[in-house]
Amino acid sequence: MHQPTLSRRTVLLAGAAGAAGALLPGPALARPDTGVSAYAFPLTAVRLGAGPFADNAGRTQAYLRFIDADRLLHMFRVTAGLSSSAAPCGGWESPSTELRGHSTGHMLSALAQAYAGTGDTAFKTKGDYLVAQLALCQKANGFLSAYPESFFDRLESGQSVWAPYYTLHKIVAGLLDMYQLTGNAQARTILERKAEWIRSRNSRLTYAQRQQVLRTEFGGLGETLFNLYQVTENAAHLTTAQYFDHAQILDPLAANTDALAGFHANTQIPKAIAAIRGFHATGTTRYRDIAVNFWNFVVRRHSYAIGGNSNGEYFQAPNRIASELSDTTCECCNSYNMLKLTRQLFFTDPGRAAEWMDFYEKALYNHLLGAQNPSSAHGFHCYYVPLRAGGIKSYSNDYDNFTCCHGTGMETNTKFGDSIYFHNGTTLYVNLFIASTLTWPGRDITITQATTYPETSTSRLTVTGSGQIDLRIRIPSWTSGAQVRVNGTLTGSPVPGSYLTINRMWASGDTVDLSLPMALTTEAAPDNSAVRSVRHGPIVLAGQFGTQNLTALPTLDPASLRATGVPLEYTAGSVLLRPFYKTHGQRYSVYWTVTGAPATTVHYPFDETSGGAVLDAGGGGRHGTLAGGATRTTGRTGGAVLLNGSDAYVDLPSGILTGATAFTIAFWVRLDAVTTWSRVFDLGTGTGAYLFLTPRSSAGTARYAITSGGAGAEQQINAPAALPAGAWTHVAVTHTGTLGVLYVNGAEAARNSALTVAPGALGATTQNWIGRSQYAGDPYLAAALDDFRVYSRALSASEISQLQ
Ligand SMILES: [Zn+2]
Repeated sequence: MHQPTLSRRTVLLAGAAGAAGALLPGPALARPDTGVSAYAFPLTAVRLGAGPFADNAGRTQAYLRFIDADRLLHMFRVTAGLSSSAAPCGGWESPSTELRGHSTGHMLSALAQAYAGTGDTAFKTKGDYLVAQLALCQKANGFLSAYPESFFDRLESGQSVWAPYYTLHKIVAGLLDMYQLTGNAQARTILERKAEWIRSRNSRLTYAQRQQVLRTEFGGLGETLFNLYQVTENAAHLTTAQYFDHAQILDPLAANTDALAGFHANTQIPKAIAAIRGFHATGTTRYRDIAVNFWNFVVRRHSYAIGGNSNGEYFQAPNRIASELSDTTCECCNSYNMLKLTRQLFFTDPGRAAEWMDFYEKALYNHLLGAQNPSSAHGFHCYYVPLRAGGIKSYSNDYDNFTCCHGTGMETNTKFGDSIYFHNGTTLYVNLFIASTLTWPGRDITITQATTYPETSTSRLTVTGSGQIDLRIRIPSWTSGAQVRVNGTLTGSPVPGSYLTINRMWASGDTVDLSLPMALTTEAAPDNSAVRSVRHGPIVLAGQFGTQNLTALPTLDPASLRATGVPLEYTAGSVLLRPFYKTHGQRYSVYWTVTGAPATTVHYPFDETSGGAVLDAGGGGRHGTLAGGATRTTGRTGGAVLLNGSDAYVDLPSGILTGATAFTIAFWVRLDAVTTWSRVFDLGTGTGAYLFLTPRSSAGTARYAITSGGAGAEQQINAPAALPAGAWTHVAVTHTGTLGVLYVNGAEAARNSALTVAPGALGATTQNWIGRSQYAGDPYLAAALDDFRVYSRALSASEISQLQ
């Protein structure tokens, strides 16, 4: 959101939507959600145990108790012509700031959530007071806001005004939360009158006029109106919600086109949240596709190592990360909203849940948990989280700041219990490892989770009560060697990036012990493989630089990292690395220029836009060439090479694996046809010596094979299935010693521990091809290829999972 009359740098504005109305306690939905197969527990069902989340929540609760409601009502009363003796607030709530009033809406949501999450009636009492006073303001002038209705005249006539619908959204979202989470019926009455005002105001406009209005940030207004439709069954609210379908943003997303660069980031995220709620309300799959495509683009192409997005509040070109490190990266509202979106997508497609929830965990721990100042008794909050080397976090205050992120920070820190557990019938998802107690509504079952995660990599669930539970435990993609014990006995085979299912009758006292080993890894920026962040398991570590400002990324040799003995802490020479979420009050660096790392030896991003060259981003100059009818297309990230299945391939330089004693070959492929014996890659010197990967052998499954004695001497790894057509699929082969492992979509698909033909036995191969076989009779590959990488060692399962 940028105010027209001020520079972007000084305005610094964005927003967020209120708490998801559906799926929380209070009055039931009149209309069940369509296309949903997992459900949230109400906030009232989950209590946090001791730990960093409870600590954050406690500070925000202290602020909610402290703050003077009359100061937050001041400009509402003045605007309504009522008297007010309260001192005006400062910052973005000052009487001259056009966004005034938004924090009152955030406060309603935060109070409602704090009440639901703790049962402390002080929060409800303060929320009820705000609602009653807002009702008086609405009655006095028929319009409810902290600024005059003329702001909307300016908006509709194209004059400069900040973002009146954005502010209005915070208020209606807060009212809906007060209704749904605390049962305040007056809040619903005010809200329905306000919704009717929005409908009336917009129904006078033409479609073209409304689309013009939508160019100014309007927060999650569409989401709240869809939610209100679900709550009331009043079709007028559906009509009004759809007035806020912004075609300029939604149309490219529906076509799966990433046109986000250059748009204000947090203006767009709530449009995707509204879209998924529109799907739930109407069943229109276009809405769902918009939301999923948006999530894929933002998470995979526009997000930093901490899970946040945006530089200077704007989306940049895809995959620009190392080149976009500044003091204004990662606005906190953006991650608040991305988590809301992720949650709704989980409800929609829990089959992809591990991916949704891996991101959820990443952004929650590395961005939002650490965006609150632990030295502040009132939970003061960051606006941006700087990711330039030498950056430092800065925070809000009691009455003279009130940025958007101060507001969404109040909401974030009052709802940590909302995504630890989900359910569907007797199915229970355990998604996050946060100390907590779940009291399952309608069942005489309590689940207590005891953990000091992430400082330890274990968690214990204890069941009280009895009954059938189809327990699904998230096994994060970053772990390797996970173990699950039921009452002390090893159970199941945990696969990273999926759920481990334990479906049984449970009895009081049953325990489930989770062990999710964490490894130290580095994650490369997509635009510079030498620029990396360091993680221990899911936790991003930051170098601690005290008062020392930095003018360039510090260098790091990962081999020099030494554990200090304190959980999650390492040293690299004289520099201490500790969790970024614990990094406060000093300068830091999340990204490093990595030296001595086992970097990619060959890397083809396929992002060239013209010419026949395929450039090697690995630094070794091993460029390839498009051959036959090979062309370019849109890739999974950036561009991709498109092979036509008749004569197209990519010619790679000779000796690409010469001297290798071990290797990893990894790539993304989207098959247009699954042709038997076609080759994704085939590196060799003819039909006598080669190694290849085919998406389907004559046995019907994907195969890696290596031979130095012709076809009869092939040694193989055979996957359980062929590679699929029509979907981007990540495939990796590792080969070290006699062990070869084939991974599909980050998970091990098959292995052979008796490979006696070493990679080096092939010598300097001269026919190194992507998409073409050593055998002239084999078909060419019909596929798009992206991000083809060769490493000089066998990556671990955890490292493979991180390539996705
Ligand atoms: Zn913000």
